[in-house]
Amino acid sequence: MNVKVVKFGGSSLADAGQITKAAEIIKSDDKRRYVVPSAPGKRFSDDIKVTDMLYNCNNLAMAGKSIETIFGAVAERYNGIIHDLGIDLSLDEEFETIKKNINAKAGNEYAASRGEYLNGKIIAKLLGYEFIDAAEVIVFNEDGTFNNEKTQPRLRSRLKDVERAVIPGFYGADINGNVRTFSRGGSDVTGSIIASAVKADVYENWTDVSGFLVADPRIVEKPKVINVITYKELRELAYMGASVLHEDAIFPVRAAGIPINIKNTNRPDDPGTMIVSEVPDDEYNKYTITGIAGKKGFAAINIEKAMMNSEIGFCQKVLTVLEKNGISIEHMPSGIDTLSLIFPYGEIEGRENEVIAQIRKAVAPDHIELESGIAMLAVVGRGMRRTRGTAARIFASMAHARVNVKMIDQGSSELNVIIGIGEQDFEEAIKRIYDMFINSVA
Ligand code: ASP
Repeated sequence: MNVKVVKFGGSSLADAGQITKAAEIIKSDDKRRYVVPSAPGKRFSDDIKVTDMLYNCNNLAMAGKSIETIFGAVAERYNGIIHDLGIDLSLDEEFETIKKNINAKAGNEYAASRGEYLNGKIIAKLLGYEFIDAAEVIVFNEDGTFNNEKTQPRLRSRLKDVERAVIPGFYGADINGNVRTFSRGGSDVTGSIIASAVKADVYENWTDVSGFLVADPRIVEKPKVINVITYKELRELAYMGASVLHEDAIFPVRAAGIPINIKNTNRPDDPGTMIVSEVPDDEYNKYTITGIAGKKGFAAINIEKAMMNSEIGFCQKVLTVLEKNGISIEHMPSGIDTLSLIFPYGEIEGRENEVIAQIRKAVAPDHIELESGIAMLAVVGRGMRRTRGTAARIFASMAHARVNVKMIDQGSSELNVIIGIGEQDFEEAIKRIYDMFINSVA
């Protein structure tokens, strides 16, 4: 029988109403056999996530203060859910144990993990599925990194004869039995690991949006949903700031060739976004581009020196200075006698003059300057490979908007074009590119 691993995020499980929606989704497809829940998230915009309340409990306990009030609020959230779902379950003993352990300074990873643990208990009860504690099957190393080699066989043998189960996301345990967590948003990672262990047909990641959008909806009005995206494209967009999925969630399923389907718990019939390894040629996107993302806060060091190109080791000397100062470069566009280095401004902030002086000393440039306030945009799309003139169209749309392009870089994969512009032009540039590649085609 085919298997789907389904992960539900915090907003999909924030209260009994949302949990009921999730349960209906699970029950509507027999293949949805393994369920990975997050902790209850926000019910309204200034609500507090259970995970944050638990981190708070830990902080108070560590400072020797009482956790009664805040832990009481956590217990109340779960009791409210249990009551509203009308299930016959009491977590009172669990609450006592957890409170005791937090007070005994079990630590922030333990405290935070209980959000998923308790929610998992409730959801397992509601669905009538077996509850499997993630501490049993998700293995971490002592240094807190995830151990895939130990986890995969453990998961496979534990799940071999288990028809249906709820396995909480976000945490596991190290070889000494201490509870460990992934970084924030890590339930996505758990779902991906389980999907790869059971060789799922698909890893469904249920959230509160109908998939990835072509551009940031705060900038472009009602942007289109990306129907199909490759892992590589997603990497590029995620790196440049688009976020829906935890970055580490990609690798386990990608290696196993399992697609991820981002779905909306509130609109389950929407197809969402499929994330796949390869897209057959005839299923190419209607648009040349798949998505646009970008980040502000970059700076450039622009260097000029006559005959720079014939000076052996010039770049290396400059790079050595940056390396010594812990600055990691994103791009390095160059001309005949010019070289620019682009990096996040935060990496040089407060040390600008010092770094420039070191470069002066290393390569004696004719001219050197630091320029801040740069934004980088990534225009990503597998369709670029078969389309001519993509860069020209980007330039034309920038020119019409009177946006000055400081840098352009087309990756060797022909999967993306990165452009550097002034921060003040960021929003306008994204809108123009969207218009050029999406609106004018639709
Ligand atoms: N509950 C955890 C967090 O808030 C993990 C997750 O939701 O994926 O980060």
